Amino acid sequence: MRKGVRKLWALAPTLTLPRWAGEGIGVAVLLAYALLYASPYGLRVLTVAGVYALAAIGFQIVFGLGGALSLAHGAFFGIGAYATGILGSQWGWGFAATFPVSLLVPLLLALLVGLPVLRLESHYFALATLGIAQVVHLLAVNSPGLTGGANGLPGVPGIVLFGWAVPRGLPLAAVVWGFVALGGLLAWRLARGRWGRALTLVRDDPLAAGTLGLDVGGLRLAAFALSAVYAGAAGALAVHTQRVVSPEVLEFPIMVSVLTIAVVGGRGRVAGAILGAVLLLHLPEWFRFLERSYLIVYGVALLATIVLAPHGLTGLLDRLFPARPALLPKPEAPPEMAIPNGPLLRVEGLTKGFGGVRAVDGVSLTLEAGAITGLIGPNGSGKTTLVNLISGLETPDGGRVLMGDVDLAGKRPDRIARAGIARTFQAVSLPEGASVLAAVAAARLERDGSIAQAEAHALWALERLDAADLAAKPCAGLPAALRRRVELARALARQPAVLLLDEPAAGLTDGEKAELAGHLRAIAATGTALLVVEHDMGFLLPLAGHVLCLDQGRPLYAGPPEGVRSDPAVVAAYLGEGA
Ligand code: ADP
Ligand code: MG
Repeated sequence: MRKGVRKLWALAPTLTLPRWAGEGIGVAVLLAYALLYASPYGLRVLTVAGVYALAAIGFQIVFGLGGALSLAHGAFFGIGAYATGILGSQWGWGFAATFPVSLLVPLLLALLVGLPVLRLESHYFALATLGIAQVVHLLAVNSPGLTGGANGLPGVPGIVLFGWAVPRGLPLAAVVWGFVALGGLLAWRLARGRWGRALTLVRDDPLAAGTLGLDVGGLRLAAFALSAVYAGAAGALAVHTQRVVSPEVLEFPIMVSVLTIAVVGGRGRVAGAILGAVLLLHLPEWFRFLERSYLIVYGVALLATIVLAPHGLTGLLDRLFPARPALLPKPEAPPEMAIPNGPLLRVEGLTKGFGGVRAVDGVSLTLEAGAITGLIGPNGSGKTTLVNLISGLETPDGGRVLMGDVDLAGKRPDRIARAGIARTFQAVSLPEGASVLAAVAAARLERDGSIAQAEAHALWALERLDAADLAAKPCAGLPAALRRRVELARALARQPAVLLLDEPAAGLTDGEKAELAGHLRAIAATGTALLVVEHDMGFLLPLAGHVLCLDQGRPLYAGPPEGVRSDPAVVAAYLGEGA
């Protein structure tokens, strides 16, 4: 099946259209339809499609870019709707006052509930946001004094813009779509900029994101809050279109529609939200003649889209009309970071327990500028945990991690990264959907002023590891050795004072190990202090100036590499006789 589809792709004409051709054609078709063809009823459907497009654009920010399945989006839509409904019909406020309030109330609620719920793992986050939607719905139905209860509130006034009462039909459609254009442009700029890149990294590689200096919690909260603003705006416009507000605006079908629009249109894409909304709202009209079997056709079409176009309709169009590959930037060395001489990192008495297991138990070590320190020990002896503690992915129970006079123990990963510590992972962690260049440039987002600059610096880091030729390749599908190299380049792009490498040679051939050793020596020669976790003594001992061996979280040996093989405790616990 997949193969057949791929063959079809090969047959499709690969036209490269000018940039913006697709968007231009889309806008022209919409305009021509609205101005020349649409009946009053058609204009009404188009207006509602605009409302859904705006809600879906906001959903693309939190779900598409941020990867958080927020089922509270429908609730924010409904709250925006009720804010406009109550203030407009009961208090007699005009659009100029109700509209900002309809954005503000969802925003405040999102900030309030976002802090606790965004900490949850993905499924629990979805469930918690669903709970928020349920509570809001119950409140609306059960507060008839305020909301009109199950009947809702009639008599919501229309939109008044600068003294002009916008009539229904073409003018209302134009105003709603004006908001879509405004919101779409803003979201598109955000998505393409450093903020959008950072957010997609949080989605695709959350573990690494913090260690690259990105404030994961802050980014997700901002995305959640901004999405709520879009939903509130859409809810307000929906009520102005209907002129009534009822608990329907808080019911689950709206949430499902927005989710469907985002997925069918293309996850994370503004154009996808608009295309999806226009299609989803017009399909029932076009297939009205099918009457009852419509839902079956709809379901089948939806399934077919998801299976055949997993990246949505905009993804499908991208494949049919691929954009010209972007030119690679010129590599550029980032401004030098002065690394002082002497001890850069002092770990003192670091301790961490998991339940009954003391994974790290009173470990101390010093990493000197320009020196490579080896960290060895049997599996489960606490090596990875030690690296996690230093880089902030785990919180120590006790002990200190000193850089100069600053104790970093227990600080957030992005703070520690900004202090000059970078790391790689035992199981390589890369954003699979991204190109190598984008993956490495992610390390510079927090520091550089633009994506172009971040990419130029990323290319410099790749060049230092003889991997510049990988820049345009996707991360997915790279062989293991190259994945490790890309990950190392990403850590290097941070110009770290301290670099922690968790089994960087695992799975490498002897030739690749020799190459890696050369690269590590070159990195150390610039003054960076390295900590290298490794099992292959033939690789590590010639490289390291100092070796620490752990066993059950406790230091077993700390000294020169020459002493490792002859140390009875290390031989007994780790290397075995004859090593
Ligand atoms: P190493 O990297 O040396 O193989 P680890 O640091 O991964 O060892 O693990 C040390 C010990 O801590 C092991 O007993 C492991 O099972 C335990 N451990 C590590 N991480 C966790 C965790 N998140 N939860 C519970 N136990 C853990
Ligand atoms: Mg490990």
